[in-house]
Amino acid sequence: MRISQIQQTLTQSGAKPIHTDRILRAWLSGRALDAGPRKHAAAKTLPLSVRAALPELETTLGRFAIPERQHPDTDGSTRLLVRLADGQTVESVLLPKKGVCVSTQLGCAVGCTFCMTGKSGLLRQLTSGEILAQVVLARRLRPETTLRRVVFMGMGEPAHNLENVCDAIDALGTWGGIGHKNLVVSSVGDPRLFPRLLAGRVKPALALSLHSAHHVTRRALLPRAPDLTPKALIDAGEAYARATGYPIQYQWTLLAGVNDSEEELAGITRLLHGKYAMLNLIPCNENPGQNHQRPTLPAIIAMTRRLNRAGILTRIRHSAGQEVEGGCGQLRARSVQVSDVRGQASGIKTEATPLRAIA
Ligand code: SF4
Repeated sequence: MRISQIQQTLTQSGAKPIHTDRILRAWLSGRALDAGPRKHAAAKTLPLSVRAALPELETTLGRFAIPERQHPDTDGSTRLLVRLADGQTVESVLLPKKGVCVSTQLGCAVGCTFCMTGKSGLLRQLTSGEILAQVVLARRLRPETTLRRVVFMGMGEPAHNLENVCDAIDALGTWGGIGHKNLVVSSVGDPRLFPRLLAGRVKPALALSLHSAHHVTRRALLPRAPDLTPKALIDAGEAYARATGYPIQYQWTLLAGVNDSEEELAGITRLLHGKYAMLNLIPCNENPGQNHQRPTLPAIIAMTRRLNRAGILTRIRHSAGQEVEGGCGQLRARSVQVSDVRGQASGIKTEATPLRAIA
């Protein structure tokens, strides 16, 4: 279900635009659909026919994202396994600093060599309603926290589900109370992405997956990403950053012996020098069945220092946080394996397993 379908349902029940706006704001803030503004009772704010239609709509929307498992981490984040209405599962992450990371697809067609989600291929697109329901769920699970940031960095490539992602971005920036620059879309850099995001009334910030300064290496790591050279990707990113006023976050999953060489450091410096950007170095997750290893911590720190001295604003992003694409998909993969063996799990389960151990 997309936002336009929710609006249509409400219009058919007799809602005027002011009522629809109020109901969308209530939903996206995690409250009941009939919650009135500033605690006014719904009876005073919504027509009777609209109120009569809300229980069914509430039930429908409630099925879009049901928390099945929660994996809290010591850093304050919690990885969620979320069940969709058709019984499929995706992952979301509640972030320590008033944020949530949402999935945009079930599986992913890009097939990055360091990512569990990519192993499954694309199973289906998520609707904007399912993407938004992950934000609603985050607000309901953490009512004491004012959610301020939504990052589209979970399972899936947002550029491959562009209309639903743009629909969700528009809703979050219009009715969801999220500042536009606090909506962050992560992409491998599909050329269709940049003009589409710039055309929207809500323009999000961008994180772009770089991972190598060499075209051939990047192609090998992201085998089914659009065939953009690193320079072409950065040129497109720079134009977007200048147009929106938000710097680009370039993502670099660190893989020992693959993209941590002197030559790569020189390549990063050459490509990003003077750009309106920052670089996130993300030590890879050492997943079973994958050959990648992360560099040692002293080596990562030394790289970070060198890049910063060379004028490239560089941060280390640890894998316990959600901004690690390599981590996404592992929770779902485990769940699918367990389900295969034991049958369907039910109810919310909170596991003591630290996120760091599973992601
Ligand atoms: S890292 Fe992102 S783009 Fe690559 S396969 Fe995983 S979900 Fe897809």
